[in-house]
Amino acid sequence: MAETPDRGARGLPGGKPKYSIFSLARNAASYHQDWQRAWRAAEPKAEYDAVIVGGGGHGLATAYYLAAVHGMTNIAVVEKGWLGGGNTGRNTTIIRSNYMWDESAAIYDHALKLWEGMSQDLNFNVMFSQRGVLTIAHSEHELREMSRRVHAIRLNGIDSDVLGPEEIKAFVPTINIDPSIRYPVMGGFLQRRGGTARHDAVAWGYARAADDLGVDIIQNCEVTGLRRKAGRIEGVETTRGFIKTPKVGCVVAGHCSVLAAMADIRLPIASRPLQALVSEPIKPVLDTVIMSNAVHMYISQSDKGEMVLGAGVDKYNSYAQRGSFPVPEHMIAAAVELFPILSRLRMLRHWGGIVDTCPDASPIISKTDVKGLYFNCGWGTGGFKATPGSGHVFADLIANDRPNAIAAPYSLDRFQTGLLIDEHGAAGVAH
Ligand SMILES: Cc1cc2nc3c(=O)[nH]c(=O)nc-3n(C[C@H](O)[C@H](O)[C@H](O)COP(=O)(O)OP(=O)(O)OC[C@H]3O[C@@H](n4cnc5c(N)ncnc54)[C@H](O)[C@@H]3O)c2cc1C
Repeated sequence: MAETPDRGARGLPGGKPKYSIFSLARNAASYHQDWQRAWRAAEPKAEYDAVIVGGGGHGLATAYYLAAVHGMTNIAVVEKGWLGGGNTGRNTTIIRSNYMWDESAAIYDHALKLWEGMSQDLNFNVMFSQRGVLTIAHSEHELREMSRRVHAIRLNGIDSDVLGPEEIKAFVPTINIDPSIRYPVMGGFLQRRGGTARHDAVAWGYARAADDLGVDIIQNCEVTGLRRKAGRIEGVETTRGFIKTPKVGCVVAGHCSVLAAMADIRLPIASRPLQALVSEPIKPVLDTVIMSNAVHMYISQSDKGEMVLGAGVDKYNSYAQRGSFPVPEHMIAAAVELFPILSRLRMLRHWGGIVDTCPDASPIISKTDVKGLYFNCGWGTGGFKATPGSGHVFADLIANDRPNAIAAPYSLDRFQTGLLIDEHGAAGVAH
């Protein structure tokens, strides 16, 4: 298991005013008119030491750790839309590290340790709440498989407890454990250190801290080409001109195959819509996260009171970031069966994101055959939880041009060697 990671610079060395109860009170006196911009609206420079493509959580975290841990501050993040407008701002924010294989335990728990100090490190409240994640079994077979998984998780030093139906009822009083329901609650496993965080705040917190270290964050700037010469990357073509750089890190989730094709690389990725919805806000009724892999439903309650629900991926490949009717219908039916008290709730919003899934449901963190071109993708339906860990190890790969022990198993080579990390069972939703 990884040691507690080097979290980079503490506080904000570049001199941004610190957010605190005092700054809140001071700014209240001026009707909140004098808050400093969280990050500059940077113009692209002609040349950088590295360019990160994609202003989601993973890209921004990569930029932050490149600057904070590796001292690379002449770098830029280029984002075709707005920060966090991709999957980062569309996910259901479940964070956990209870995966099956050693390689997964290493990276997801590395991330979880970084989550535990993130608000302090970034001086930005990401509302990380360790309210526990409880995964439910609905059949004897699932229960047996779950027990095996829990043993594997514990062998990696990660917290995980098996609960019976009565213990689940005591932990989640609103759940229906009646054995006669269509998918009866036979048991489950709980990671108490798991929980949720505020997704936008993660993007904004990393952006603010990276900007403070000198990173240029450039929005509305789409990468349209990857210029190469003699097997090396020379820079990126963008809608705001060419940017020269010897290192390009692509962190564009559902669009990774599009970026890879610009360098004549074919990634083993399928991009599919994944949908979620929130209900109207209600008083607190659920203070943990519930996942059901068999019925493809996961649910938690946001701090605003909305019930947040997610489902399995759509059955077809697509780049359309939108919802459809059958998926919410399925997830609402499952939610109402498990939580009959929700049956009269109204849906408030519904959306989709494009998730990038590998054949083994594990990510790619890798060099490529083009010198200086790196990819971080394939997080599929479950990359939000990995955001800080992914950024941390990807920054290390870009800075040193070699993967560290955590990142090495996630190289593209595994699709040739066959050393796959099959996490379909732990991925939470079917692919
Ligand atoms: C509905 C839904 C629910 C989910 N629930 C969970 C969950 O509960 N827990 C969990 O761990 N994970 C979850 N995920 C997965 C998680 O959201 C993603 O794995 C993670 O957010 C990926 O982050 P990212 O920074 O890599 O990608 P993104 O946030 O998608 O960022 C990539 C960015 O790249 C930009 N981009 C694309 N092409 C270009 C280009 N050519 N030039 C410049 N910029 C470009 C995009 O605009 C985008 O902003 C969910 C995903 C969805 C869609």
